[in-house]
Amino acid sequence: MSIQIKQVSKSFGSFQALHSIDLTIKDGEFVAILGPSGCGKTTLLRILAGFEQPSSGEVLMDDLVVAGSGTLLPPEKRRIGMVFQSFALWPHMNVSEHIRFPIRTHKSTPSHIKNNEKNRIQEVLNMSGLSHLADRMPHELSGGQKQRVAIARAIAPQPSLLLMDEPLSSLDAMLRMDMRREIQQVHRNTGSAVVYVTHDQGEALAMADRIIVMKDGRIEQAGTPQEIYLRPETEFVARFVSKSNLVTGHWDDDVFMPKDGNNISWPGKQVGKYFKSHGLYPVRPDQFQLQPSGKAGILGEIVNVQFQGKEFHYDIRSDATRWEVISPLPFSLNDQVSLSLSSVSGEGV
Ligand code: ATP
Repeated sequence: MSIQIKQVSKSFGSFQALHSIDLTIKDGEFVAILGPSGCGKTTLLRILAGFEQPSSGEVLMDDLVVAGSGTLLPPEKRRIGMVFQSFALWPHMNVSEHIRFPIRTHKSTPSHIKNNEKNRIQEVLNMSGLSHLADRMPHELSGGQKQRVAIARAIAPQPSLLLMDEPLSSLDAMLRMDMRREIQQVHRNTGSAVVYVTHDQGEALAMADRIIVMKDGRIEQAGTPQEIYLRPETEFVARFVSKSNLVTGHWDDDVFMPKDGNNISWPGKQVGKYFKSHGLYPVRPDQFQLQPSGKAGILGEIVNVQFQGKEFHYDIRSDATRWEVISPLPFSLNDQVSLSLSSVSGEGV
């Protein structure tokens, strides 16, 4: 199913939560809506689901207006599945019954699925790794298993669009990593478009085909994970996604000279207009190269070290500025170092 969101705004009383959102989602695409708390992610998702009506603008699903212009197609008539942060399982139903319920009750369930209910339940149980738990009640399941049931329930009626609102945020860190893989697998198996709301940039970068970064009810930047990571267009995106360092200096066309860089210069063809007009260069923590002082670059002192397995996370002080740097090279507290740009910059991507 393709989705078009056209000039959608939403106000709650005098507060405007969404400002003229324009977004097209392709059939089968995995789109992450990424942004800080309160930026309007859930409101946009609820409008797609049909729980909220936009104050103005329209939503089209496969070219049919489902919201706006006086129309509001109710949630059960849209071919959507929803997964919430809280799992929202029904305490009196076992795992199989969770899968059976939407197949039976959703008005949009295709008839070939309704007529082969038993097969579909088995298929979804297998797909979700839940076959051995089919008779368990929710209180007999672990957090990860509950989340799998919530996803199985959502995909059972074969929705064309799967809406997920922070589905992993109540799981512990290890389980979140495993469930990322499972959600990617579900996406591949079902072919449904996915709209995945998160404030976790790692999740968005890892799973999505495209990331929509939102701020204060507006789209700040939309692009592939690589584009968002390597070529942020605004200071907000640079800082919110992987905490870019913003180096001050002077731009001469596409060449940047850091203020304290001892005459070094960095190529910057791909750096966004915003940074060029503000005399800034965004550098992700892993795009800095660290060398012992004495080499050309910005001089600094290591003021904090965290060992992270295959790399070190450093805080480096240079005059009044603090840089965050990730490097495989071991340095010690108080070491003097020089910072330059590594070849992993946005150039050429
Ligand atoms: P979070 O990550 O914290 O869930 P979010 O980005 O999903 O945040 P929304 O839940 O969409 O944000 O809320 C966007 C803004 O709209 C917030 O300021 C919120 O307080 C406000 N808002 C949401 N729903 C309502 C409502 N029913 N009435 C009034 N204000 C609301």
